[in-house]
Amino acid sequence: MLSVLRNIVLEVNAAESLDEVLGIIVSRVRMAMGTEVCSVYIRDRNETRYVFRATEGLNAAQVGNVSLAPGEGLVGLVAERGEPVNLEDAELHPNFQLLPNIGEESFHAFLGVPIIHQRDVLGVLVVQQARRRRFDESEEAFLVTMSAQLAGVIAHARVTGEVPDESSPERDSVYARIKGVPGAPGIGIGTAVVVSPVADLYAVPRQLSDDRRSELRAFKRALSQVRLDIESVAENLRDKLSPEDLALFDVYIGILDDSRIGGEVASLIKSGVWAQGALAQVMIEHIRHFEAMEHSYLRERAVDVKDLGERVLGYLQADQRDDQVFPEKTILVSEELTASMLGEIPRSHLAGLISVRGSSNSHVAILARAMGVPTVMGAVDLPYKRLRDMSVVVDGYNGNVHLNPTKAVIRRFQEIADQDTELNKGLESLRDLPCVTLDEQRLTLWVNTGLMADVARSLDRGAEGVGLYRTEVPFLMRERFPSEEEQRQIYREQLEAFAPRPVTMRTLDVGGDKALPYFPIEEANPFLGWRGIRVTLDHPEILLAQVRAMLKANEGLGNLRIMLPMISNIPELEEALQLIYRCHRELAEEGLEMPLPPIGVMVEVPSAIYQARALARRVDFLSVGSNDLTQYLLAVDRNNARVSDLYHAFHPALLEALIQVADGAHAEGKQVSICGELAGNPMAAVLLLAMGYDMLSMNVTSLPRVKHALRSITASDARVLLDEVRQMESGQAIEERISAFFHARNLQQMMPAPID
Ligand code: PEP
Ligand code: MG
Repeated sequence: MLSVLRNIVLEVNAAESLDEVLGIIVSRVRMAMGTEVCSVYIRDRNETRYVFRATEGLNAAQVGNVSLAPGEGLVGLVAERGEPVNLEDAELHPNFQLLPNIGEESFHAFLGVPIIHQRDVLGVLVVQQARRRRFDESEEAFLVTMSAQLAGVIAHARVTGEVPDESSPERDSVYARIKGVPGAPGIGIGTAVVVSPVADLYAVPRQLSDDRRSELRAFKRALSQVRLDIESVAENLRDKLSPEDLALFDVYIGILDDSRIGGEVASLIKSGVWAQGALAQVMIEHIRHFEAMEHSYLRERAVDVKDLGERVLGYLQADQRDDQVFPEKTILVSEELTASMLGEIPRSHLAGLISVRGSSNSHVAILARAMGVPTVMGAVDLPYKRLRDMSVVVDGYNGNVHLNPTKAVIRRFQEIADQDTELNKGLESLRDLPCVTLDEQRLTLWVNTGLMADVARSLDRGAEGVGLYRTEVPFLMRERFPSEEEQRQIYREQLEAFAPRPVTMRTLDVGGDKALPYFPIEEANPFLGWRGIRVTLDHPEILLAQVRAMLKANEGLGNLRIMLPMISNIPELEEALQLIYRCHRELAEEGLEMPLPPIGVMVEVPSAIYQARALARRVDFLSVGSNDLTQYLLAVDRNNARVSDLYHAFHPALLEALIQVADGAHAEGKQVSICGELAGNPMAAVLLLAMGYDMLSMNVTSLPRVKHALRSITASDARVLLDEVRQMESGQAIEERISAFFHARNLQQMMPAPID
């Protein structure tokens, strides 16, 4: 049964539309269970009725025509209860209701199971049989398992189905909202431009052509460029290869002949498909065909076909890039956005970013925050290949994408965007004012950086220093580890730009979801694996070079602070300290005398909460990495949209942990800061002030809001609020209480997520 189940899921996963998905389900389930009927009912767009959407065994002509409300009939009963209903004779059940003309009259045995995705009953899967009999336990279990496995695919296909493709007349009118993860705050309203990774046949969006002739010309041009490339390779090898071997190049080029694959692509283009799409479609078909061959020699040909396809695609994409005109408000969309894709579009045209893969920690999200571009990451259900030229709203506050927004939706988001602009203008005057409460309590506001691009904006917005410089960012932008001297220059630039303000440089924090392209780490549980300090202690040469580069960069400036990520025990810290002391000593021996910079530990693993005092005793400061601390404390993957509702900034356990860390550091007379995203949330900042945090370090976009909020309250009110929320037992209740605190002071505009 397991293999049957697996095969059905595989087949369904490969399907391209909801109808195809449902068609496969009804036919395969009916066959696997040996029933006479299998049907699927799916909830309609208005979310009020379950529509008869696919069947094998009943009257298919009625598909789409009949439906049931929750509670109505047996299907409605399954949907309402969210539980299977298994009946020997359906007619005897009080809920029984005959749907007109679908031909159920002769079927007595009924088994219906709900299709539930993220607590939501999306539909009902039903099998029926003429013989009066109860489906046995194993049959019921099979159908329940099937439905649980299929729910995600159906949810995805449903969203995709709601987003019509280019050939559909509904394309510009159907509104859909898709959930992702907030990548960079702000609202972006504009037109989608879909970018594909370079020469990836599988990522080419579906598109119709605007001008068949020019598409055909572009294809022919790309073909002859590839031919020339291959001919020149053959020419270079002429005296090294035998004539027979050289003849292989002719065979290779021959694959692209007009009479063969080239001809198939050309005729698809003539039918209206754009050149890249036609090429991808034909090449993928041929690759599949070769891959399925029995004979290994023929199977190998798949590699040649793929290589040729990618070469031609590379030229077509280069052609497209040369001619690409970006709309004034471009929303850049890709399956996986990269920093280099951002480089292709002028900043003045960039209104927002959407990436299907990746998280708020991805390199591109860090870059987007630095540039202040509203971004949604991890929008896994987004049918991104269909979005070309579509009107889109990016809600970077809540991590939502709105496709084909209605006028009312645009108006609502435009208002927020206008308020943002207005607010930021109003907040400009705060730049040179200190962050001090109405009752004169001072708090230092720092920024998180990783790129030189952050520097100008940070200084412009009045940052008093850098609480977290993510050194992995310059590491991510290279093809190998940067040398000690390269690092020294990069660090020097940061330190100089902010001097005399302090700059806290964190030692390399890779692993988890931060992978260096040239240093892959493959693990089953990357967040619980080899990451942060664990990697650099196992590779002391990396840590030593980095610390030496930092110390050298600090020469004559003296504003460096060094911070260690992911410390989970004291021996780890002591080992890292010894390596830092060693660098310091060796540099002194080489003639570079300077005081040892302040050294600190990040508190981002729960064990560090309980050892805050012991850690603080050994270093100069503690800094809470609330992003990881929240994920580890609540056991919620910080990048997983499916559980993002559980990643709660005001969870009582998290608040108690934050208090314990601040108290631990202060008990040892050490400063404590926080450098996770929580610090940039004005509602949290009020509590952090009350807890006694000395510095808050955040992304630069949030800084003016946090400053304004803190300058508008008293520290004593914040302490009363903290005492009050500490009595509460749920994050939601705490958030509501803080929200009321903000409303009472007319600070609602400072709250981070204006709408959802
Ligand atoms: C954190 O975990 O809160 C943190 C600041 O580090 P990063 O987001 O880079 O893991
Ligand atoms: Mg972290």
